[in-house]
Amino acid sequence: MKTLRLILGDQLNINHSWLSKTDDDVVYLMAEMRQETDYVKHHIQKVVAFFLSMRNFATTLKSKNQQVIYFEITDENNPHDLEKLISQIIQQHKISKFEYQLPDEFRLDEQLKSICKNIKIESEVFDTEHFYTTRYELKDFFEAKKMLLMENFYRMMRKKHEVLMRGSQPVGDQWNFDHDNRLKYKGQVPIPDAKIFSKNVADVIAQLEKSEVKTFGNIDEKNFVWPTSREECLVVLDYFCTHLLKHFGDYEDASHTDEKFLFHSRLSFAMNSKMLSPKEVVDTVVDYYFKNEDDITISQVEGFVRQILGWREYVRGIYWKQMPEYATLNKLENYNKLPNFYWTGKTKMNCMQKAISQSLDEAYAHHIQRLMIIGNFSLLTQMHPDEVDAWYLGVYIDAIEWVELPNVRGMSQYADGGILATKPYVSSGSYINKMSNYCTSCHYSVKDKFGEKACPFNTLYWNFLDEKKEYFANNQRMGMMMNMLKKMNPEELYKIKVKANAIIGDLDSY
Ligand code: FAD
Ligand code: SF4
Repeated sequence: MKTLRLILGDQLNINHSWLSKTDDDVVYLMAEMRQETDYVKHHIQKVVAFFLSMRNFATTLKSKNQQVIYFEITDENNPHDLEKLISQIIQQHKISKFEYQLPDEFRLDEQLKSICKNIKIESEVFDTEHFYTTRYELKDFFEAKKMLLMENFYRMMRKKHEVLMRGSQPVGDQWNFDHDNRLKYKGQVPIPDAKIFSKNVADVIAQLEKSEVKTFGNIDEKNFVWPTSREECLVVLDYFCTHLLKHFGDYEDASHTDEKFLFHSRLSFAMNSKMLSPKEVVDTVVDYYFKNEDDITISQVEGFVRQILGWREYVRGIYWKQMPEYATLNKLENYNKLPNFYWTGKTKMNCMQKAISQSLDEAYAHHIQRLMIIGNFSLLTQMHPDEVDAWYLGVYIDAIEWVELPNVRGMSQYADGGILATKPYVSSGSYINKMSNYCTSCHYSVKDKFGEKACPFNTLYWNFLDEKKEYFANNQRMGMMMNMLKKMNPEELYKIKVKANAIIGDLDSY
């Protein structure tokens, strides 16, 4: 029976059991398609990174004597549509069985189910063998529970997978070292350069131009920095262990004008494309820690493990539990449009200018820039979650809907009404000032609410709380701020609202 096996662009798992042997009757299909480049406008580095990684993966498959059909974006007979592509190959190669791996996006899952109904040959679906959890494991874990607390899920995962455990006790006698992970970076220790590559990607860019694929963001065509093969991803992982892990936790929540990456691993693309598995990343980092316990503290490694074994699996579980409704939620009823500076970085707010320009230059921002700078500003200015989602889904190298959507719509924009976060991640300028040095070189004064030079975050924050006060009236975690709002002098609140609305009405002037 001749079998066709589809491998999607984010299914580059060379250790998948499919690939453990060769079979003359099995053909693998990979394709660079317009349906994927066009469902949202992507950063050019993201498209280049995926295409190069797919091409490298196909080359590896061929070197292992697998039969591969590969369509580049410019290939003449590339139909650019998954259903047409699969039907065409089935006919041409007289295929009698179609197999695919579970896609991680709802959109593709639906499409593949529908394709299987239409093609009229036998089909079978396989796990990607990538995640620690199955699609619905989180749903079952929280069955009948009202609160889907990440911490409870994380502890279950630590125990189940025996990560950083001594018997039934967590290493370090504490589950979570979050409180130790909040240092501001003031140059206390030098930050090693990021592990980057320098590849010439002019050919791929020329192909994108020829195909008229619309992208945004910046790229250095002679020095493409991201890892695009498993070997390169392993180099980045090793570099993280030997150079960055030692201070990862300490500065996890920090931001700095001159340090784009701080001690972050930059491994999200390697994992989201499945070139690395989360288990091998966690195991490698934990092994390295145990071999270097004299030099590295538990708070660094626990902070890292929590992101992958905890948050990454957790957001995926939320995605599959809540889709497709999740993508439509707008519980805070926010309807504003993104200002133009999200596409140019041209704003006088130093924190936003740095975080957005970096996103456009690198297709990367670290977690705090995504959450407490850009996400915070988007929520305070009450932007429509659809707009915010589309921006995040396009701009970051690691943005795939299963992980982007819960982080943006849930954690950052509170559009799910608190399924994922117990309170909205909003702050005035003082938090940004506490965790970064952005304010010292800003056009605006972080201490002021009023006047030409007042930090916009300060009035936007109180205005947001006032606008949404009914929604948060019963949220205990918001109690203190809501009480402060109630006690505020009505004249001052009025002035705040006037100023905040002037800002919201003219965002591109700030
Ligand atoms: P590190 O700081 O080195 O962390 C290690 C790894 O932990 C990451 O590579 C990632 O795989 C995982 N991780 C950390 N936090 C999260 C999280 N909240 N959810 C899932 N995994 C996490 N991550 C994406 O992979 N794709 C996205 O599209 C994405 N969008 C985000 C949008 C917003 C608004 C926010 C607040 C977070 C988003 N994240 C997303 C999570 C996180 O910001 C990125 O994973 C991280 O910045 C990637 O950089 P890094 O590899 O250097 O991470
Ligand atoms: Fe951002 Fe306000 Fe600080 Fe400027 S003063 S960097 S706008 S928080």
